[in-house]
Amino acid sequence: MREKLHHIFQRSYRALRPRAPIPVFQVEFYAFANVNSTIRLRDGVIHVRISDLLEGSPETILEDIAHILLAKIYRKPIQSLHSTRYRRYISSHAMSAKAHLVRQVRGRKLIASPQGRVYNLDQIFDELNRQFFFGLLARPQMTWSRAHARNSLAHYDPAHNAIVVSRVFDQARVPRYAIDYIVYHEMLHLKHPVKLRGSRRCVHGPEFQAEEKLFPHLEEAKFFLKTL
Ligand SMILES: [Zn+2]
Repeated sequence: MREKLHHIFQRSYRALRPRAPIPVFQVEFYAFANVNSTIRLRDGVIHVRISDLLEGSPETILEDIAHILLAKIYRKPIQSLHSTRYRRYISSHAMSAKAHLVRQVRGRKLIASPQGRVYNLDQIFDELNRQFFFGLLARPQMTWSRAHARNSLAHYDPAHNAIVVSRVFDQARVPRYAIDYIVYHEMLHLKHPVKLRGSRRCVHGPEFQAEEKLFPHLEEAKFFLKTL
């Protein structure tokens, strides 16, 4: 898929700028909250993010997107064949239903609050930030999940720049070091970003693991989480 996307962008670039050297492309699908695509040129590399809602779209639609984005960044006229076909596809019933669903699921997190019954996630983030990160991490949106989800303790959602923690941990019988550990783990995801397809991939490289070991109550926290 990645290969195919690259070819599409290279072809489109060639058609738009026949004589210019072909730049390096970095193209990925990304979990935006909506059907959206972005393009920017930095240090000679063209970075493209295409809504993951469009993953699996017909090749012609991906060609339309490539043309529209490249025309935009190089200030060329957008051919109506491409803009019309793309618009028609986006507004088709299947696509709008999919987008509506994702808006509901991804948008819902934004109305949640950092203040739980027992713990305030903003406060926990700020204290850990001072203690372990020299206060250098920008605080994302901190929210409790709506459901008592046990399968996902917590996750960092880059599409919304949000850390979502399961409400299971908002109880007095959950010790502070356990909730601290959960938030600390997600802060490490913030600090060590990975290339994402979808919003919930959890990758723990060697640097991540080494830094996780700096947490003082690591073993107790892990043990507690197992028994909860
Ligand atoms: Zn993780």
